[in-house]
Amino acid sequence: TPVIGVLALQGDVREHLIALAAADAVARPVRRPEELAEVDGLVIPGGESTTISKLATLFGLTEPVRKRIATGMPVYGTCAGLIMLADKILDPRSGQETFGGIDMIVRRNAFGRQNESFEASVAVRGIESPVEGVFIRAPWVESVGAETEVLAEHGGHIVAVRQGRALATSFHPELTGDHRIHALFVDMVRTER
Ligand code: GLN
Repeated sequence: TPVIGVLALQGDVREHLIALAAADAVARPVRRPEELAEVDGLVIPGGESTTISKLATLFGLTEPVRKRIATGMPVYGTCAGLIMLADKILDPRSGQETFGGIDMIVRRNAFGRQNESFEASVAVRGIESPVEGVFIRAPWVESVGAETEVLAEHGGHIVAVRQGRALATSFHPELTGDHRIHALFVDMVRTER
């Protein structure tokens, strides 16, 4: 059984732990580099990317997480977690850092300006029928590099991507009770072990 960590600095950690357990993984919170070393894959939750970025640096996790991602650890980021996986943010707050891992440019709060929060049915490549996407001050992906696969769009904007072992969604499957995207990620981790 794969052991999957959830970066537990800020955000909806508990919901991811529950979704991963439902998708047959052993799920653990990760706050320290020693805990990161023990997991086969990592989820970066939704929350506030500027806060996650600051706390990751404070907890000495920024470089270790970057290194694990760069050396092939599977990662999945939702919303703020998607932002943390972007190689580039269009409108970063000063000092805001990301872990990187996906060749894409993201726009923070992109959907949020018009609409703080909404739900929409989203067709995701590799998932048989549409998932209910919960968007909360959600980013979208402005553009992707040649190696990044677009898995879903909403309203003409990219909202789910994958590059190699890194997966990211603008929306929050952990809030819906539909664990198919977590199951897809658990499969990615299983095949990489
Ligand atoms: N707007 C948040 C950010 O910039 C993301 C919101 C979320 O994770 N629901 O990090």
